Amino acid sequence: MAIIQQIIFIAILAGVAWLMYQRIGIIGKTIRLGKEEDRTDQPSKRLSIMMRVAFGQKKMFDRPLIGVLHFAVYVGFILINIEILEIVLDGILGTHRLFSAALSNFYAALIGFFELLALAVLIACAIFLIRRSFLKVERFQPARHREMSGWPQLDGKLILVFEIVLMIAILTMNAADSALQDLGSAHYPITGDFLVSQWFKPLFAEWSEGTLIAYERLAWWIHILGIFIFAVYLTYSKHLHIALAFPNTYFSRLEPKGEMKNMPEITQEVKIMLGLDTQAGDTTVPERFGAKDVADLSWKNLMDAYSCTECGRCTAACPANITGKKLSPRKIMMDTRDRLEEVGRNMLANNGEFVNDNKNLLGDYIIEEEILACTTCNACVQECPVLINPLDIILQLRRHKVMDEAHAPGSWNMMFQNLDTNQAPWKFSANDRFNWASAVVDRGPENKSTESGI
Ligand code: SF4
Ligand code: SF4
Repeated sequence: MAIIQQIIFIAILAGVAWLMYQRIGIIGKTIRLGKEEDRTDQPSKRLSIMMRVAFGQKKMFDRPLIGVLHFAVYVGFILINIEILEIVLDGILGTHRLFSAALSNFYAALIGFFELLALAVLIACAIFLIRRSFLKVERFQPARHREMSGWPQLDGKLILVFEIVLMIAILTMNAADSALQDLGSAHYPITGDFLVSQWFKPLFAEWSEGTLIAYERLAWWIHILGIFIFAVYLTYSKHLHIALAFPNTYFSRLEPKGEMKNMPEITQEVKIMLGLDTQAGDTTVPERFGAKDVADLSWKNLMDAYSCTECGRCTAACPANITGKKLSPRKIMMDTRDRLEEVGRNMLANNGEFVNDNKNLLGDYIIEEEILACTTCNACVQECPVLINPLDIILQLRRHKVMDEAHAPGSWNMMFQNLDTNQAPWKFSANDRFNWASAVVDRGPENKSTESGI
């Protein structure tokens, strides 16, 4: 019987490893579809940002209560999973609590510490679930934010239920184990009671040895299968940020937020127009201006999309969204990821090569009305807890719309025309730009106050 369990366990473990290998491979491949962008400068500064923002979750503490609860879930989940090492080895070798003999008394203390973390995760997840289900947090409401309807709404709750079940399984498994130790059951080495699960022991007081063993095994399988399912599920859900928050913050943008990346080809053209650069010879016209589809974005834009937690803090701060415009920076990131996933499926079905599907990020997922509503204020960039930059994607899509498709609102076209002819957004000649000053000078300083109405 034990050997059959071992074989089943090893087969499941191999299946999970293969599925994760496939998923991680396709995610890496789709991110690499993006354009080259060097983000390797200033490694010590980057490391410091990653440690503060991803490891220390600095931005989550902008809202202290949520920050503490999120930190409890994060630390708890990471540390409890150390215990998985023992569970996996037990599953492969057919042993039970493999490390207990070697660690002696320290073993019960260690498991007790993990149990304390499990309890913290359980409480935090229960609070988050109540908050999502009953407190009607505005940024999670599908009626107000269409990107949150359907799967994203379910995904957010599912993972919390998942974690609650896993934590209950681990605590009751330990309690049943303890009760079996009290009965002197074979194969259950004496470790003593554990810190938290001892509170659950009275639940098992009247149970027979056979029923206790059946429950302990059931909880063990629920726990380990839950972890395996979670590991695969994570790669399909917004919870990928648990892993990607680290590289994403490390490779985040170091330049000031307000500094826009210009296209070198356009900068040179403008310089030539203004007579600042007369070397017109080596201007190369790019294949495409801006971005139309995911492959036109940079690899960092694509990693941003996979790292999005769908928290909606960006959208809640976006002035365009607040004033009722169609734009939601969270939707921009979710749409980019959805399109990337579609491209990934296409590649999987075609031996790793993308076959044109006549679809694009711009048009099929994100529409003109959304990108034109952006004020480029950077509020979304400022708010993001994992340093995602939705504005960068919006600007590239807008560049494509305006420069490649020559599709801009009438008022913008007037401004472009003025820039072209007057080198300024207004309809006055560049030579007249200081006329206002000479008018003041002509009247003399005594007349200035009259002009300004003081
Ligand atoms: S930069 Fe654009 S998308 Fe971001 S908050 Fe401002 S208006 Fe919204
Ligand atoms: S872009 Fe950042 S702030 Fe916006 S939903 Fe995603 S993780 Fe949250």
